[in-house]
Amino acid sequence: MTFDYAPAPESRASVEIASDYGLFIDGEFSPSASGSSFVTVNPATEESLSSVAEAGSADVDRAVAAARRAYDAVWGPMPGRERAKYLFRIARIIQERSRELAVLESLDNGKPIKESRDVDLPLVAAHFFYHAGWADKLEHAGYGPAPQPLGVAAQVIPWNFPLLMLAWKVAPALACGNTVVVKPAETTPLTALAFADICRQADLPPGVVNILTGAGETGRLLVEHPDVNKVAFTGSTEVGRSIMRTLAGTDKRLTLELGGKAANIVFDDAPIDEAIEGIVNGIFFNQGHVCCAGSRLLVQESVAEDVLERLKARLSTLRLGDPLDKNTDIGAINSAEQLARIDELAKSGQGEGAERWSAPCEIPERGWWFPPTVFTGVTQAHRIAREEIFGPVLSVLTFRTPDEAVQKANNTPYGLSAGIWTEKGSRILWMAQQLRAGVVWANTFNRFDPTSPFGGYKESGFGREGGLHGLGAYLKTEAAR
Ligand code: NAD
Repeated sequence: MTFDYAPAPESRASVEIASDYGLFIDGEFSPSASGSSFVTVNPATEESLSSVAEAGSADVDRAVAAARRAYDAVWGPMPGRERAKYLFRIARIIQERSRELAVLESLDNGKPIKESRDVDLPLVAAHFFYHAGWADKLEHAGYGPAPQPLGVAAQVIPWNFPLLMLAWKVAPALACGNTVVVKPAETTPLTALAFADICRQADLPPGVVNILTGAGETGRLLVEHPDVNKVAFTGSTEVGRSIMRTLAGTDKRLTLELGGKAANIVFDDAPIDEAIEGIVNGIFFNQGHVCCAGSRLLVQESVAEDVLERLKARLSTLRLGDPLDKNTDIGAINSAEQLARIDELAKSGQGEGAERWSAPCEIPERGWWFPPTVFTGVTQAHRIAREEIFGPVLSVLTFRTPDEAVQKANNTPYGLSAGIWTEKGSRILWMAQQLRAGVVWANTFNRFDPTSPFGGYKESGFGREGGLHGLGAYLKTEAAR
């Protein structure tokens, strides 16, 4: 049974969006040298939110030079206990401004307010708190007695968790004594620009954090800049590959967090109702715009029918619509291009003979939307079983034995995450050892914590973000010196 809910919209009053934004370089906002800019829109309404400067080569030069000056003169030499104070201050300001930032994120990205408010923002603050704690203890992190920063880090961010991915990159870089030039995604620049304002509010020395808005070309210019020491990229495998080619032969350090096609594996002894919630969270959280999404459901044949029936019943209760409504479960697709990509892959699923079922929900007239969709009758050869859809689309396959589950789960070029649902601890441990995935969740899914390293195998990239491992990506370690 489904209930009708009265709308419960979050107020936009906490957010002030300027009509235009400049680039944040050396502690100041300034227009791009060429004067060019682009518009960022609300994907739920297609309304223009703001016009944002587009950084070109002269701007990249200026930002990298500012970061270098700040590194040499201020941030690099500063004792860790002093850097920690700034990071704690940033973390506290993020908490204080979390309602504003959550609303801004939902407006620019399309994600439901209950997710930006209850997941993204608490994690953003947690990442700054966690890394503030490390800044004065790096000699105890296991990277030798006096680990040194790398210098200037170029950090390129995707649009699915704009502020959270920024936090994953900026917090460890600053804690370790590096300065940064950040390039947010072109469809979601606004929370990064709000973060620039937070840096000023925290009195962070100019040049420690620089933010360059722009599209792929800006990102390319930044990662190719000769005075950058470290590149951290989160985005598609295709762009990750091109960055790796560009950086080959240079002494720049590189971490890549790329795509995924995770298996969420449900055994017949799993607590089925909990597993249903885990499947829903695994693929429909953030409209499936999640690199570690459980986009392939592997369900044991003996319970497949039951699981699918309960899953469809549960999906029929999800509410799709206004991201600012506190009741909304499924928000908007981030862009028209992404919607077209999802649509194309979903059509290929039908074309290749899989059976499509979509939850019965009303699609708003304006904006970009895709209903929660499940494909059954999927084989491993289908594109929807192999390619990352990055949308609210689940491909269901079945298995009979644990060995078959492992083989099917690992039959992918990716290796970012996996989920296991079973009541047997021994099976969880055995499976976790067999699965070629950076993160393996057991009887849960999509859990994140700053203390826990995150990253991939194979075409999902390399390097880790978060935890002790993540610190290593921003330090010259004994072995590397
Ligand atoms: P994308 O690769 O198109 O863009 C990511 C970022 O790279 C954007 O800021 C973009 O402007 C920039 N960019 C584009 N071309 C570039 C180039 N040649 N050089 C430098 N920068 C360039 O990906 P997207 O569509 O923004 O994000 C979706 C992808 O990101 C998915 O494949 C998803 O799996 C992946 N992702 C991975 C993780 C992870 O932690 N592994 C997290 C989130 C998203």
